[in-house]
Amino acid sequence: MTVFDTTLRDGEQTPGISFTFAQKLDIARQLAGIGVHAIEAGFPASSEGERETVKAIADLGLDSVICGLARSRKEDVDVCIDCGVDMVHVFIPTSEVQRVHTIKKTPEEVLDITREIVSYVRDHCDLCMFSAMDATRTGTEYLISVFQAAAEAGATIINVPDTVGVYTPTAMKQLIGRIVAEVDCPVDVHCHNDFGLAVANTVTAVEAGASQVQVTVNGLGERAGNADIAQTVMILESIYGVRTGVKTERLFETSRLISRYSGIAVLPTQPIVGDNAFSHESGIHSHGVIACAATFEPGIMTPEMVGHRRKLTLGKHVGRHAVRQMLTHAHITPSDSEIDQIVEKVKFMSTKGKKVTDADLYEIAETVMGIGNGGRAIELQDIAIMTGNHVIPTASVKALVYGKELVCSSTGTGPVDAALKAILGVVPAKIQLKEFNIEAISGGSDAIGHVNIAVEDEHGNIFSASGSGDDIVLASTEAMVNAINLLQRIRQAEEK
Ligand code: MN
Repeated sequence: MTVFDTTLRDGEQTPGISFTFAQKLDIARQLAGIGVHAIEAGFPASSEGERETVKAIADLGLDSVICGLARSRKEDVDVCIDCGVDMVHVFIPTSEVQRVHTIKKTPEEVLDITREIVSYVRDHCDLCMFSAMDATRTGTEYLISVFQAAAEAGATIINVPDTVGVYTPTAMKQLIGRIVAEVDCPVDVHCHNDFGLAVANTVTAVEAGASQVQVTVNGLGERAGNADIAQTVMILESIYGVRTGVKTERLFETSRLISRYSGIAVLPTQPIVGDNAFSHESGIHSHGVIACAATFEPGIMTPEMVGHRRKLTLGKHVGRHAVRQMLTHAHITPSDSEIDQIVEKVKFMSTKGKKVTDADLYEIAETVMGIGNGGRAIELQDIAIMTGNHVIPTASVKALVYGKELVCSSTGTGPVDAALKAILGVVPAKIQLKEFNIEAISGGSDAIGHVNIAVEDEHGNIFSASGSGDDIVLASTEAMVNAINLLQRIRQAEEK
């Protein structure tokens, strides 16, 4: 089983997405690094920029097969070859609706073009993928004759695209079964998600004998996108027991990289890579997971396997076991009656519609238990921020750090970035910002801003904190100061 990733081609055709040249090279390196067998780097004939990108990716010397897309025209193929790709992927529409309305060719003409273009590719390149575009809406007998023609002309792999995502797993199983039996060539599938069946159709094709799957990171692609790499790979690895060659423990990081570059956030409930994929809030589930993770997780797939984390979250469904576990982290050990009070307060806070952060939990615990916080590690005294259209955003802070006055200034991409960097500049510990999100609580430009952040210390511990106010820069600094103080408090507890 091999994986063919088309994030850089079909994924880049996602409406609203345009990766920069540098981002595309990064994405190609990442995909090769995680063991993707083949990377579709782009469609070189579409523009000069695309040509340069595909050439640059081919020049990286990555371990993956680098593929370029071409219409069934010699000039498109020539451009691909000039880019130095390892594989040329040629396609032609075969369904009646696409034949009649796009290329205006008869079925016989399509067969002739197929033979001609595939043998032309093979005269210049060792690897040729042939796609019958809109295969799933093409008559099966005719489709098979086109694939046979491509195989006889030297195609090294044939691709069966469900171009408009209208197929079902049952139909896919039958179709791929017939193609595998009747066409002497390895079979690959490319499924779209218009009805949400892209991944199901892809893995069913594997059941029926397909030997390669086309995917994109985060399921990017035209319209509703393509089969998602993380879901497809994990179904094959964990449920089917099929090896894909992909380093699954890097799927999460890959998803986040593409999310950052594409500007398209991953839904919290997205399988495998969503924030909630291994999160537990309800009392029953958290209790079960603390005892044995497989109680309320798939078990055959763990967060470690995909590079994610298990998280117990605080909310109105939280239970005593989760709260106790989270406090143990900070060496806080409440009695049974104290735990009850803490849980009550957490539930009360979240029913008010407020997200309960780690910092809030420790504060509640300390209040209930009547323990001091041992002094704040950092106390912000002054902060000044300058920003505008012709200045580099700059922030300077004065803070008491363990009673000692320290100052630091920093520039940033914006005022928030500059302010947070200046604060981190006075803190002795190595802290990295992992998450930052801001919401306007009421409408209007004078709305109260609420900032939620998560920071990570050098040991990989992650803590959340928040801040609010009518100035988003100050709300952000408050959240950061809260996070730092929380971290220091936990450090002190550890040392005791
Ligand atoms: Mn497509």
